[in-house]
Amino acid sequence: MDTFTFYNPTKLIFGKDQVEMLPEQLPKETKKVLVVYGGGSIKKNGVYDNVMEQLNKSNVLVHELAGVEPNPRLTTVRKGIDICKKEGVDFLLAVGGGSVIDCTKTIAAGAKYSGDAWDLVTRQATPDGALPFGTVLTLAATGSEMNGGAVITNWETNEKYGWGFAPYTYPTFSILDPQNTMSVPRDQTVYGIVDMMSHLLEQYFHNNTQSPSQDEMVEGVLRTVIDTAPKLLDNLESYEHRETILYAGTMALNGMLQMGYRGDWATHNIEHAVSAVHDIPHAGGLSILFPNWMQHNLEVDVTRFARLATNVFHVNSEGKSERQVAEEGINELRTFWSSLGAPETLAYYDINDDKFDVIINRAMKRGAFGNFKSLEENDVKEILEMSK
Ligand code: NAP
Ligand code: FE
Repeated sequence: MDTFTFYNPTKLIFGKDQVEMLPEQLPKETKKVLVVYGGGSIKKNGVYDNVMEQLNKSNVLVHELAGVEPNPRLTTVRKGIDICKKEGVDFLLAVGGGSVIDCTKTIAAGAKYSGDAWDLVTRQATPDGALPFGTVLTLAATGSEMNGGAVITNWETNEKYGWGFAPYTYPTFSILDPQNTMSVPRDQTVYGIVDMMSHLLEQYFHNNTQSPSQDEMVEGVLRTVIDTAPKLLDNLESYEHRETILYAGTMALNGMLQMGYRGDWATHNIEHAVSAVHDIPHAGGLSILFPNWMQHNLEVDVTRFARLATNVFHVNSEGKSERQVAEEGINELRTFWSSLGAPETLAYYDINDDKFDVIINRAMKRGAFGNFKSLEENDVKEILEMSK
């Protein structure tokens, strides 16, 4: 194992009706809360009313920032920062999915920074502090509710980067009620499942150090998600399956499963470049790119791919070469995602190779990347070509 320090200050509050715990989570001195949310789903499913009811009990003044877009934009972050500075906001509450939470994280740090928030996202500056913030999660996917990462898009320059800075970008608390995810439509439910599986896989294909407990745990969560996903899609209002998927999504990216090694994260990096140019759903990009990243890197460690095939996809290895087993595992993943309705090619989003140059340029902006295999420009090009 690599040396590591595990740090995660987020208080996780999980289960039915737990939004009732909201008032006591606010810091005692809180006077003004900025509630941040997206395009309106929380007004349709009752989450907005439930949150407001609790805030009303808390004797705080509420400001709102609505309209955070999926793939949240720098322009919206700046709007939020302006409200915080102008109104003297002292606490932020994100109510929504990963986009709303990531936007809130960046507003929280940007509100205490004298320059432009893009400096923080591009890591040209580090935050001087942040406003405290909590979350009420409505979509199982990113793990942002219990990690310090935030992904922000600058649409003017077609750049999308992940950033974060402990402890400022960790939520102080996150409230996860499976009921709040019941209204997530089928396509977003699938995207969430693909995203959490990608997080698990990005960690599984790590920098080739040994960490057997972690490997077993990642395989276990992957098997659970694979078992539950079709059942949930058959019954989107199943509390039990929503609960299983919600918990899995948080565990997939809260740091617990990556102690002692460095995950790969190359597919996430390429996907960010694709969605910075084409604004497609994050996990739609991942479901297209990930199997091709695997195929491209098969030779790096055939044994590892074969292990995934047998332990997670139950591929029968009898009479087959290790390479055959490994390839069957990749096909199983592709087939599984496609059986859920996730896309397999960029053509699904009407993306052709016209802007591959820009995508490659953005992906390479921070230099070669990937810890399982370090990718150069030609690798990215090949993976994109395979994804057409
Ligand atoms: P999202 O972009 O937050 O939300 C996607 C859509 O789902 C929105 O249209 C939203 O509608 C809707 N939605 C959310 N909750 C709903 C509910 N309960 N009922 C009905 N509709 C609901 O999706 P996400 O996958 O959670 O976040 C994606 C973003 O996170 C991407 O930018 C990605 O790059 C980033 N990401 C971050 C991390 C991290 O660790 N920070 C990791 C992976 C990905 P409304 O807008 O109307 O609410
Ligand atoms: Fe992701």
